[in-house]
Formats: sequence, C-alpha cells, structure tokens
Amino acid sequence: MFYTIGGMDRPMPSNATMFRRAALRTCPRCGGSKSFIKHWLGRYERCRTCGIRWHREHGFELGPIAVNVVFTFFTLAVTMIVAFVTTGPDYNVPALMTLMIGAAILLPLFFYPFTYTLWLAFDLASHKPDQRELAEADAAVAASASASATAS
Ligand SMILES: [Zn+2]
Repeated sequence: MFYTIGGMDRPMPSNATMFRRAALRTCPRCGGSKSFIKHWLGRYERCRTCGIRWHREHGFELGPIAVNVVFTFFTLAVTMIVAFVTTGPDYNVPALMTLMIGAAILLPLFFYPFTYTLWLAFDLASHKPDQRELAEADAAVAASASASATAS
C-alpha cells in the first residue's frame, strides 16, 4: 500500500511495511538488503539502495539506544521470570547470574542493527521525508552509481 507525500508523486511505503522491513534489518524505505547497516555494528551514511540518510536529525542515536535498552531489559526480565519459575525453589544462583550477565552483554549487541532500522522506520513514519530530502537521496544514489561505473 502506497500513499503520496504532500500531494507529490513520490510513493512511500505504509507504516506497516516500513516496520516489517525494519524488523528484517532492511531499509524501511526501500526494503533493500544493501541498507545503511555495515556488517553488524557499523553504519554507512546512507542506505546503499535508495540513498536515504539514517541520521535525519541531531540526536537520532538516542532513539536506537532507548529501543535497545527496552528490548534488552524486557528480554532479561522475561528470562529471569522463566528461570525463577522453572528452577524454583532451588535456585542455582551462580548459573542464573552467569546467564543474566552474559545476556546483558550479548543482547544489546544482537539488537543493535535492528534498533537502528526500527527507529528509522519510526522516524520516517512520524516525520515524512520532504522533497528536498528525497531528491538528496536520489542524487546520492546517482553519484554512487556513476562513481562505481567509473571505478570499473
Ligand atoms: Zn533504502
């Protein structure tokens, strides 16, 4: 499902489509797997498919950090409750501590790229890109294509 922005003929995906794409770690705008995620913990400046910048405003990084904290704490809480219910009343405290500390370190690393794509989906849904931003994205894609054509 598509709609237009400000009466212009630039289609944007629906919010549901953008969040579904973000949950798969692809670009919310275009669905391209060559998005702005570089390996797992890095980021390119723009989506390598459609050219949209992920850093759309100052302080954008606070959103993914907040999402990561919520995801991590929720998963830790659920894990702790399940562990207490299934192992009680004879809790193996050292094993539980090891599990929880390991999860507290590894979960944010696992969630990291998803929080960026999800927050970009939220940002694009709540603050639609204007024509200038879309034109800049198109120009970046064109410049990248001509640069790679020249290189080969
Ligand atoms: Zn894209």
